[in-house]
Amino acid sequence: MSEDEVWNLEDRILVFTPTGRDAALACQLLAGADLPCLSCPDETAMCREIEAGAGAAILAEEALLPWTVNALREVLRRQGPWSDLPLIVFTRASETNEEILETLGPLSNATILERPVRMSTLLSAAKTALRARRRQYEVRDLLLRQNEADRRKDEFLAMLGHELRNPLAAIRNSLWVLDEVGARGDQDLRQREVIERQTRHLVRMVDDLLDVSRVTLGKIILKRQTVDLEEIIARCLHELGLAALAASHGLTLRVETEPVVVDGDPVRLEQVICNLVQNAIKYTPRGGRLTLTVRAEGNQGTIRMRDTGVGITAEMLPQIFEPFTQVESSRMRSEGGLGLGLPLVRGLVELHGGRVEAQSDGPGQGSEFIVRFPLRTGKKPARRSASPCQSTANGAEKVGLSILVVEDNMDGRESLRDLLEIWGHRVDLAENGHEGVEQALAVRPDVALIDIGLPGMDGNEVARRIRTAFGADPLVLIAMTGYGQPDDRRRALQAGFDSYLVKPVDPAYLSRLLGEVGQQIRRREVSSL
Ligand code: ADP
Repeated sequence: MSEDEVWNLEDRILVFTPTGRDAALACQLLAGADLPCLSCPDETAMCREIEAGAGAAILAEEALLPWTVNALREVLRRQGPWSDLPLIVFTRASETNEEILETLGPLSNATILERPVRMSTLLSAAKTALRARRRQYEVRDLLLRQNEADRRKDEFLAMLGHELRNPLAAIRNSLWVLDEVGARGDQDLRQREVIERQTRHLVRMVDDLLDVSRVTLGKIILKRQTVDLEEIIARCLHELGLAALAASHGLTLRVETEPVVVDGDPVRLEQVICNLVQNAIKYTPRGGRLTLTVRAEGNQGTIRMRDTGVGITAEMLPQIFEPFTQVESSRMRSEGGLGLGLPLVRGLVELHGGRVEAQSDGPGQGSEFIVRFPLRTGKKPARRSASPCQSTANGAEKVGLSILVVEDNMDGRESLRDLLEIWGHRVDLAENGHEGVEQALAVRPDVALIDIGLPGMDGNEVARRIRTAFGADPLVLIAMTGYGQPDDRRRALQAGFDSYLVKPVDPAYLSRLLGEVGQQIRRREVSSL
């Protein structure tokens, strides 16, 4: 049996002395005390063995040439911050400890033994070194376990976000169906508004959940353009009804802006500002005041969201940007949340090359969140162009299309059918990929709305097969998916989809998209007359 098979690699003491005589002696001594030892012919062999596992290294001072020190430093650096291999250095009597330590540079975890080395001194130094190294390996294992747990948690969060989108899509569709049908009375209307509001709240939480995992995994790509922050604020207050929400909470919201132009992704900047305003509303009791200020300060665009709310303690201030952090006292009065808003704000601000900080004089003293972005000089901001679908918004209801819905989630499928039928389309359903392909060939619809995450044959494969079977025949393929990653989108478009919608699909957007398809069909019919 070889030595390596008997020993635990991580308990070995490696020895490198240029003459070899010291090494043989040291190994003999250590082996006599049951301490596994391996003599290395050169620094390359020693570094290789350190990578495989080593408890300590014994080196003769003559071996400490600059390239040996560098090679050791490099191999330890690769092992990570936990690794600080204990070294035992045999020196000549004439050398001082300071001189040796200077030669070792950052390899400072060294015990220096003057020759002639006493046997008991060497054994005790070797045992101490092994004990210390074992602790280092324990820290390594702990870090590995933590990283693994972290990875699994990130994957779980991404999966959770995705899974939650299916039921949300179904609820949203049903709400739209109810809206189309019309309310029977005030009570009906009120209940519907509650469901609508709470669904919106849920959708935002799920979006935050997914976005935080994307920021963590470095999967967010900014679509930068020249942006006027004032415009972003206006959109955010308007679209989320934040000004109204503040008022309904008995808060005064004052917005002071001057034109501040940055180079950023408007959607992501809106997310940042909305999160801060929502928090200010959430954590400020009735009668409070919220002030949102945007101004250029030097070469930075600064957004300040100040409130007169519950405030933040000095201990919590450095932590609130960490995921899942919630201050106990504010959780009591919070309208819910996952503790992901601020980590997302920080991640997105940093992606833009900016910084965010929080200030508060303590509980009850209000808070201020300050975001700083590098300012863009020169060019005028690009005004948002209308969505490509907006100009044809009214076309959807006018042309009844034949639409195939391929969706395995029953509620999602049925509610979408109801919605599409209310809009005047003819709908066929399929609940898995194989059925989807069969139905497409039998019905030859104008549009197929296909879920990507289907059991068995996935939506991309369904699209590929339908496209191949249709050849040059016109058919619009629209993907619906809980995954909104750029890679997923690219794969879907490659598979033959024309459009890609992330769940829960916005019915207004879908309606416009179908309106466009209707107009295309009408144009084709007219030109073929
Ligand atoms: P959530 O609001 O979902 O709990 P966030 O990440 O947005 O998560 O915020 C983390 C924590 O920071 C909150 O739970 C709250 O305790 C604190 N916090 C955030 N904004 C404010 C604010 N404007 N005033 C006081 N505390 C705040």
